[in-house]
Amino acid sequence: KTVCVTGASGFIASWLVKFLLQRGYTVKASVRDPDDPKKTQHLMALDGAKERLHLMKANLLEEGSFDSLVEGCVGVFHTASPFYHAVKDPQAELIDPALKGTLNVLRSCAKTPTVKRVVLTSSIAAVSYDDKPRTPQMVIDETWWSDPEYCTRVKKWYVLSKTLAEDAAWKFVKEKGIDMVAINPPMVIGPLLQPTLNTSCAAILNLVNGSETYPNSTYGWVNVKDVANAHILAFENPEANGRYLMVERVAHYSEIVNIMRQLYPTYQLPEKCADDKPFPAKYNVSKEKALSLGLKFAPVEQGLKETVESLKEKNYFTPITI
Ligand code: NDP
Repeated sequence: KTVCVTGASGFIASWLVKFLLQRGYTVKASVRDPDDPKKTQHLMALDGAKERLHLMKANLLEEGSFDSLVEGCVGVFHTASPFYHAVKDPQAELIDPALKGTLNVLRSCAKTPTVKRVVLTSSIAAVSYDDKPRTPQMVIDETWWSDPEYCTRVKKWYVLSKTLAEDAAWKFVKEKGIDMVAINPPMVIGPLLQPTLNTSCAAILNLVNGSETYPNSTYGWVNVKDVANAHILAFENPEANGRYLMVERVAHYSEIVNIMRQLYPTYQLPEKCADDKPFPAKYNVSKEKALSLGLKFAPVEQGLKETVESLKEKNYFTPITI
């Protein structure tokens, strides 16, 4: 069976490609620059890659760029989307590739009768950003949508890009009769297969890199291997439908640092919060639907350990000990 993955060299997609190859799929994988070994070498080194991985060039902003990638595929995993926060032109750098790029990929799917299902890598960013106060009783579930007006007001451009992209994707697939499932992860951690540093692992690097403070933020956290597996389960299970929130745990950075202190008692880790505002109120995210896919969530402790070990092995930092 042939499937394709957009943005294959990314953090999540590299694990997805690895697991798809392990399960015997033939994988067509898009990268922006197939001549850049930093984007391709780790993929071509995966088990089964020589025989069953086909790298192709495609760009989200080029109309029709994904036609030949999607051709002949039963499944399409659309993961490509820029994820970083330091942007000068949010429209051009984040919103256009996310929104127009998703519709571009879906238009290729609409033209391709072999495609049975699309799995979209969305985000908790498309779910939980609004100005409703959080409470410990609150349970965020798959029915929630982030508020684009709020995201614009507080200049959360990445969050806005994911919200607009997922919303437009659902409208498009309903109109065209395409079967789509969305996976909505929060902060994704775990070992890096790719040689470059992605945004969510950079957040963990910041904590071990001599920083004196941690951000005053509460996020959901999940392991990259669980996210990659969820994509495959959502593709393979005919009953899968709608969105799947993938949150193992909601934790403030102070709790993340505490876990890291237990894992690495000799490391210098940030002692203080970056500001003296109260910590944001905790809330819950429903796990029920994600668990119905048949996966078990690896605990955040494991993901943090795997991230730190991987960053160390790749020489992103040298531990500062106390
Ligand atoms: P990475 O930065 O590692 O990967 C992003 C991928 O998107 C890269 O492969 C990149 O290609 C590709 N991309 C960006 N712009 C374009 C473009 N114009 N044309 C083609 N490809 C493009 O990020 P992650 O693995 O973390 O993210 C993957 C997906 O998961 C994204 O959709 C992201 O929004 C989502 N996500 C990530 C979370 C996380 O915490 N990591 C949480 C929730 C959702 P190239 O290699 O060529 O730069």
